[in-house]
Amino acid sequence: MPNHLWMTEDHRAYAESVARLFVDDFLPNIDRYTAQGQIDRAFWLKAGDVGVLGATIPEEYGGLGLSRHFDAVAYLEQAKAGDSGWGFSVHNIATHYLTGFGTEEQKRRWLPKLASGEMIGAIAMTEPGAGSDLQAIKTTAIRDGNEYLINGSKTFITNGASADLLVLVAKTDPKAAGKGVSLIVIETKNLEGYSVGRKLDKLGMKRNDTAELAFKDVRVPLTNLLGTEEGKGFIQLMKQLPWERLILGYIALGASECALKVTLEYVRERKAFGKRIMDFQNTRFKLAEAATKIELLSAFLDNCLAELDNGDLAPEKAAMAKWWGSEIQCEIVDECLQLHGGYGFMTEYKISELYADARVQKIYGGTNEIMKEVIARALDRDA
Ligand SMILES: Cc1cc2nc3c(=O)[nH]c(=O)nc-3n(C[C@H](O)[C@H](O)[C@H](O)COP(=O)(O)OP(=O)(O)OC[C@H]3O[C@@H](n4cnc5c(N)ncnc54)[C@H](O)[C@@H]3O)c2cc1C
Repeated sequence: MPNHLWMTEDHRAYAESVARLFVDDFLPNIDRYTAQGQIDRAFWLKAGDVGVLGATIPEEYGGLGLSRHFDAVAYLEQAKAGDSGWGFSVHNIATHYLTGFGTEEQKRRWLPKLASGEMIGAIAMTEPGAGSDLQAIKTTAIRDGNEYLINGSKTFITNGASADLLVLVAKTDPKAAGKGVSLIVIETKNLEGYSVGRKLDKLGMKRNDTAELAFKDVRVPLTNLLGTEEGKGFIQLMKQLPWERLILGYIALGASECALKVTLEYVRERKAFGKRIMDFQNTRFKLAEAATKIELLSAFLDNCLAELDNGDLAPEKAAMAKWWGSEIQCEIVDECLQLHGGYGFMTEYKISELYADARVQKIYGGTNEIMKEVIARALDRDA
């Protein structure tokens, strides 16, 4: 498995504590979480205790004040434990908006609760009529005295049914296309006019709640505008996207490693024609290809992470990490499922879950077609 050269003793110790969290508190409940389509709040609180929800949040706001490498460690450990349903990466992305653009008052108010798990975070961009084309959103947040009046609806929101805090993408100036977009922080508890619609039934990611949200004459104070200036939403989103896309790359890497591990275990045991499945040349070649792809993906992601740390990760490279990572993940889980034969199609085998969960990686976080547009635009610009 890949050797991340940036990993120190501190990263390894952190990895161990995250792994323990999964083994002790997540895996014993995994079937129940899957059946209920949601993770217990008690687990979020335990994760908060371990620091997983606030690793990169500065210490003065209740976090551990660590670099993004520690988040990457946590996503890899989640995948190693065989889970891709718990939406803490999205929760962490919501916190990044607050650390990146929040006022001092906003950081003090919300970050400690997000770090502890007392509040679960989500980011609400997508609408029934606007996904890839985010500028076409219809949700509005219009100034009315010292409040915003919010109307609209969102869909496909990860952690949507559980969320206590939303980073909402809305138009504060509906006539002004991208420049009219702002991010508004919404505390959902007892919020009049706010409702959670259907918890959506999905092909995969069964443990994660993905929900529709509705806003009908919802009122929040003007101080809930993220930052101090309206119309900055698009710029704020663009600044965070490279890290968000890199996270999806690391999730792809972790899931691919997990697929290879469970498949190796299987093909060493299972026999056909008097041999282990592992002994067929086709199996050996497929697994050798998967292991090579994993190494290449890992090296590319680590390179992107180093550039991100230096502050110079180009959006097109982050887009490459997202589309190529998810593509490789889907190829690997497909080949690995094939090596399980019919058992690979049975839900009691981990590979079937890995297969179902992988597919959405090509869709969310910006579809892979949009990623290729981002890359092509940069090629055209730099030519
Ligand atoms: C499980 C899940 C979790 C999600 N979580 C969240 C979340 O937490 N928050 C959130 O805001 N959203 C979330 N999403 C939404 C996700 O980001 C969108 O589904 C995605 O951006 C695509 O939008 P869309 O579904 O409207 O597809 P569309 O935009 O309608 O796209 C349909 C197809 O057309 C293609 N297409 C569109 N435009 C172009 C173009 N210019 N060039 C070429 N092809 C194009 C797309 O690539 C796609 O293949 C989630 C989605 C899923 C399925």
